[in-house]
Amino acid sequence: VFHLAQWMADYYLAPLGEVLKTCLPPSLSASNPETSAIKTQLVVRLESNFEEELQRQTLTTTQLLVIDRLRTLTQPVLLSSFQAQSGVSTAVFKVLEKKRILRVVKERVFRDPLQGVSGTLSVSQLELTLEQRQSLEKLNGFLAEDSFVPVLLHGVTGSGKTEIYLQLIETLLAREKDCLVLMPEIGLTPRVASEFRTRLGQTVAILHSGLGVGERYDEWWRIRHGHAHVVIGTRSAIFAPLANLRLIVVDEEHDDSFKQQESPRYNGRDLALVRGKMNGALVVLGSATPAIETFYHAKNGKYRYLRLSARVQERPMPKVKLVDMRSEFALEHRSVVSRELETAIRERLERKEQVLVLINRRGYSAFLLCRSCGQNLQCRNCSISLAFHKSRNGLLCHYCGFQQKVPTHCPSCQSEYLYFLGEGTEKIETLLAETFPDVRLARLDRDTAQRKNARSQILGGFQKREVDLLVGTQMISKGHDFPNVTLVGILSADQSLAFPDFRSAERTFHLLTQMSGRAGRGELPGEVLIQTYYPEHYCLKFVTGHDYDGFYEKEIRFRRFMHYPPFVGLAVIQARDKHLEAAADTINRMGKLLREFGKERVRILGPALAPLARIKSEYRFQIILKSASRKMLNAVLKQCLAEAERQDIDLRRVHIDIDPVSLM
Ligand code: ADP
Ligand code: ZN
Ligand code: ZN
Repeated sequence: VFHLAQWMADYYLAPLGEVLKTCLPPSLSASNPETSAIKTQLVVRLESNFEEELQRQTLTTTQLLVIDRLRTLTQPVLLSSFQAQSGVSTAVFKVLEKKRILRVVKERVFRDPLQGVSGTLSVSQLELTLEQRQSLEKLNGFLAEDSFVPVLLHGVTGSGKTEIYLQLIETLLAREKDCLVLMPEIGLTPRVASEFRTRLGQTVAILHSGLGVGERYDEWWRIRHGHAHVVIGTRSAIFAPLANLRLIVVDEEHDDSFKQQESPRYNGRDLALVRGKMNGALVVLGSATPAIETFYHAKNGKYRYLRLSARVQERPMPKVKLVDMRSEFALEHRSVVSRELETAIRERLERKEQVLVLINRRGYSAFLLCRSCGQNLQCRNCSISLAFHKSRNGLLCHYCGFQQKVPTHCPSCQSEYLYFLGEGTEKIETLLAETFPDVRLARLDRDTAQRKNARSQILGGFQKREVDLLVGTQMISKGHDFPNVTLVGILSADQSLAFPDFRSAERTFHLLTQMSGRAGRGELPGEVLIQTYYPEHYCLKFVTGHDYDGFYEKEIRFRRFMHYPPFVGLAVIQARDKHLEAAADTINRMGKLLREFGKERVRILGPALAPLARIKSEYRFQIILKSASRKMLNAVLKQCLAEAERQDIDLRRVHIDIDPVSLM
């Protein structure tokens, strides 16, 4: 792990101390009581060799009850929770202990991050489909090479990638090797993590940012001391102290959340390849919609390539259809939910099937617009429109959390004619509740998921079919397996296409394909309706055709032509400061240095105001660097930073992002 940290500090141009803080577990400090010691608690164990037949007559009913209960448990149980459940007094345990029937012992207990997540999952291996079996055989072959092998496992949604990972891991565990599985967000999809735990047992450790310090420390300790050989985690799990690492799986490798947005700005997917190389491990990148860069490398032979082109059990891919909202509008049907989608929802509800509706914006409406002067109300700290949240009865900034009341007059021109524009999840929920008064409806977005366990409660309710219709943001698009969902409705698909960012088409393609993939995963076939004002856009065309390759060809031409990754390495240098002049001055001085050292070695764009020009009260100016050679990019930046330090440029204002996921 130390080598990995050194590599990171060098590549991402981050201070080693900062990098190490990211890599190492929460410190074992006295000031942090949660980690100061691993918890010990009293645990009840049945003695294995007590002579039951001999003693049975001498025991009371209560004592027998305790014994019989303990016998049904496969694991030792906490005295406190056993007592709470059975209502048996401590004295009973004392007597039984004296009779040498059970023992109450002090044991180390690990806080279990999966507590409360219930799984009704099968413990046995599934019989693989032909495609799954062929992929698994290939992967086992790669393992036999006994060195670093990167592989892209490209399998459509519902093709059963998880089962392949599981069987591969089972093979490695049998050989006493360690495995690491990275996932975008575990809090969102506890299903997969609990599936691993059910299948593989206590050797699975879970690491993600939602854990308390104590929980994380315990899991880390179990890994470090060889009690856990499989680690499932989000990006920071890439630093897990596994000694015999032979396999790293990066599931949904295209996902942006592998990228850390603050320093050190590393990408867990990319580090998986770096660590895989250091450890001579097999690295499997899995996705239904690989990142453009990843697919490019697979096509060019840098990564091996495996494809699963069909869903398991011959389930068809969902039928995806665009609904042209312009003709809806022409027909004076002014609702945000088209008649076609409304009819489709009604049909499913009558058939007792389930429906998911995606609207990738939370709140009630996106802006408050003044009809007289055309201004929309912006955040005090950011150059961002404030969104209206009905539940909070106020306006909210989604970047810095600033809140205010809805004003009665326009702050610019004093006009009273303010109106709300652009729908969010709250509004759609309200609309659907009006249209379908009897429906059992739930909403999942960052607002409803705020309370601890709220997400899993909402998703669990939907899984158990206590809810018919679930409205939500992209939180409902990822990795869920709801077999009874036969319809997915997507509102405002165009919104993310309009973002001024070179990855906006790619991101939209991922989101829509993943979202579509939630339909028809069970026995019943699925249908997807995508509402759009821009049905001609190539991204939407390829989504409806399930045509990843077509999308890739179109997108890679654009990347080549416009000099974007994978054809160049990219870096963004931002100067941020509360004072406009200070930020501008810093970026200008950095710009000068970059031109001095980088001339003819890298392409330099800017300085310019960032598209999000002000966030959290800080102005942002940026310079974009492009180079066909990452080495060159790295060398130029290092030279500049050294010189900037010599010239006393305040580097606390300077933020460097290598391989940024967006240029906003
Ligand atoms: P993916 O991650 O590729 O979208 P999953 O791994 O979630 O797909 O699998 C989709 C569903 O298919 C899951 O419910 C899984 O249990 C099931 N499944 C996977 N492999 C098989 C198989 N060989 N036979 C039957 N069902 C399978
Ligand atoms: Zn106005
Ligand atoms: Zn703000």
